Parts: sequence; C-alpha cells; structure tokens
Amino acid sequence: MSFRELGLAEPVLRAVDAEGYATPTPIQSASIPPLLAGRDLLGTAQTGTGKTAAFALPILHRLLTMPPHQSARPVIRALVLSPTRELACQIADSFHAYGRETHLQLTTIFGGVGQGPQVRALRHGVDILVATPGRLLDLLEQGFVNLKHVEIFVLDEADRMLDMGFLPSVRHIVRQIPTRRQTILLSATMPQPIAELADSLLNNPTRVRIAPVAATTNLIEQSVCFVEHRYKARVLARFFKSRSIERALVFTRTKRGADRVVSDLAKSGIRATAIHGNKSQANRQRALANFKSRHTPILIATDIAARGIDVEGISHVLNYDLPHEPETYVHRIGRTGRAGASGIAVSFCDSAERKLLKAIERLTRSALTVEAPVSTEPVPREPLAHEPSAEDRSHQATVHVARNTQGAEKPKPTARRGRPRFRRGQARHAFQGHGRHNANRGRSRSRSAS
Ligand code: AMP
Repeated sequence: MSFRELGLAEPVLRAVDAEGYATPTPIQSASIPPLLAGRDLLGTAQTGTGKTAAFALPILHRLLTMPPHQSARPVIRALVLSPTRELACQIADSFHAYGRETHLQLTTIFGGVGQGPQVRALRHGVDILVATPGRLLDLLEQGFVNLKHVEIFVLDEADRMLDMGFLPSVRHIVRQIPTRRQTILLSATMPQPIAELADSLLNNPTRVRIAPVAATTNLIEQSVCFVEHRYKARVLARFFKSRSIERALVFTRTKRGADRVVSDLAKSGIRATAIHGNKSQANRQRALANFKSRHTPILIATDIAARGIDVEGISHVLNYDLPHEPETYVHRIGRTGRAGASGIAVSFCDSAERKLLKAIERLTRSALTVEAPVSTEPVPREPLAHEPSAEDRSHQATVHVARNTQGAEKPKPTARRGRPRFRRGQARHAFQGHGRHNANRGRSRSRSAS
C-alpha cells in the first residue's frame, strides 16, 4: 500500500515524498485509515516504528480538510501531550516536516525554560500544540491556553507519563478538552493503570499493536555476560577498551547508578556522560549533542531519559543493569539495529538478576549467547580504542546525522579492531582474549534454569 492509496491530502503527500518515505510502516498502514475516518485509536508501539507519522499525517489531513473554527486567529484544534521535552521537540520537528506545505501553525511548550516566548506564540494563535503536561497545566492555570476548541487529542508514550507521575496532570488537562473529540493513545507497554486510562478516554477505539521492532529482528547480536555486580564497572571498562564503537548507550536502572558508571569509567580513562532526570535541561541537551557528534560516544542513561533519544548509528547497547520489565529490554536494544543497520546488545547479569534474564528470554523466545568470562582485574588507564585523534575530530565536525531522512548519509562506523563479528548462537571471544567459549543455546538454557 502506498501513502497515496491511504487517501492523504496532496500537501501531506508531497511532504511525505520529500521525506523520502516510500511506503507506510505497519503502524502507519494500520492506523491512518481509521484515523482519517475519525475513529479513536489505542496503539501499542514504541519509538522507531514510525508512530509519530502514524498520527501526525492524519491530523494534518483532517485539519486541512475539516472546516476551521470561525475565528480571526488560529485556535488549538490538535493537542499532543508528550512526557518529555526531548520527545515533544521530536514530535514538533515531525509536524514541521510533514506540514511544511500547509499554513497550519504549530507551537511546542515545555518546562525548564522561560514561558514568555511560549505565551507569545500562544497569543499569536496556533492550530497544533505539542506540550509536556507540567508546563501546559501551568499555562492553563494562568489563563494563557484555551483548549475548548480541541478536536484531536494525542497522548503519546502514556506508560512514560505514568512512570513520571504525570497521570494526575493528564487527567486534569483532559477535563479542559471537549468530550466530543478524536483521541489517540499510544504506549510502548500497557500496564494496568494505562489500560484503565485508555478505557476512560477512548470511545470504541481501533486497536493497533505493533510488535517491538527488536523482538523480531535478527540484525541485533544479543549476548549476556555473567558478572557479579561489584565487578560490572571493570568489565564495562574492558569492553570499551577492547572494541571499536560508533556510539554506545549504556542503561542503568537508577540515576545514581548512571552517575556512578560515569565516574567508574573515568577511573579507567574512559570518558562518558550520563543523561537522566536530575540533570538540567541544558546539561541533557549538551550530552545529547556530544553523543550525536561522537565527541562523547558513550552515553549512560536511565530508561526514562533514553526514551526521548532519537539517534541513529548506535552500534552498541549495554545493559549494565537488567530491567525489571522484559519489554523494557526489547525497547532498550531497539536503540541499535535501527533502519536495517546491525547492532550489538550485551547484557550484564549478576546472580540476583538471573530471574530477570529468564523473563527476557521467555519474551524474546530465544536464549542469549553467553560471553566468555572476562577478567575482573582493574583496568589500567590508557588511551581508548574509540578516543578520536585530532584528525578524527576534524572529520567528526563534518559528520552529519540527519533525522527524518531515509537514506541520509550516516557516519561511517569506525573499523572493528581485529575481532570478528558474531552471530547469535555462535561461540565468541571474551572481551580481552580470554579464549573461546562455546556458548550454544542448550548451555545457556540450562544455566538460566538455575
Ligand atoms: P518514530 O517511531 O515516529 O520515532 O519514527 C522513527 C523514524 O522512522 C523517524 O526517523 C522517521 O523519520 C522514520 N519514518 C517514519 N515513517 C517512515 C516511513 N514510512 N518510511 C521510512 N521512514 C519512516
């Protein structure tokens, strides 16, 4: 099916074409027709599936084709709520790209910055508002926002809203929106409170469930490294010293854990940055920019902070701590192996985490390849495999990672240093030449039964 066959308006089709999208992704094919028909939608899908276009394209179409409210200035006809500023900005970027051939006005509002420019933009009049709940509520209470004309309401990443404690604010905001509206709720997972929220907000919705991309892809080499918690930092340092990486995203369960990993790696001469909710907005954006430019190609993140990161060319995902929810594992490793590229996901598992590993293997219906034991000796401070030379740095300044553009130039992966790449189920070397280890599925099954 093509975008044209979906029946989207011409200006939207031209923008999609300019983005280089050849065919709709599965979530787009499943969602766009019912959304164009005005139905509510409950979508279980994660970032990377094309979910933003799945709601942005029909919203643009409907705003273009439905008669606007009689008013001198635009009024807010579509409201999109996002849990984080990063995601809000990405959604707004997508609307700008898909709506470039329209006259529709869009504004983004979020906390952590002065409200003046946001208030001015609202006064000017907007058709589409993308907002985080806290700042929106603030501006609503000050009387700067009028949601009485909202026709389409989107709640994106509802499970993150729950995690971040935003559900009361969301309910408050929803009470300001007309009940006669189209509602779209998207969530990567569907915990009970979100299922209940969906029941209360949606009217006979179309349900679309898109399997996490990573669960089905074999482009990601997945392995597990059994290591006791106290040695994880050393093993991680050894990992980075022994591999060439393009960009690595390391997941920890807690914010403190993320900061600790940064300082532990620094002791081995490895530069990394942490990104999490306790960091200031400016700090998070700087960390992200350095990660994108590969100035600091190792980013340590908590799950919540990582949700808003849309960076291509992540070669490695490391699970320093295993997540409590197996679905989160799938989301994490989905950060690599995107857009048809291959990726490597290594999970550190200590004895207390064996149950979590079992749950992951049950969900993904496969046993992870086992890494050979790695030396837990302290790692000497020495130059890093990925540390850029002056020449690399001048080259990196010209590397551009384009978003929203299929087939865009991607930075070339740095050459792998001598190590062969491994397929799942094959034996693999230890991080630092500790010989081969026959880690076939049968073995990893039996050890995970312990
Ligand atoms: P999302 O899941 O909305 O974060 O989108 C993930 C990425 O897929 C974004 O970089 C989009 O630009 C891209 N994308 C969305 N729809 C398509 C499509 N139909 N074809 C190719 N790329 C797409």
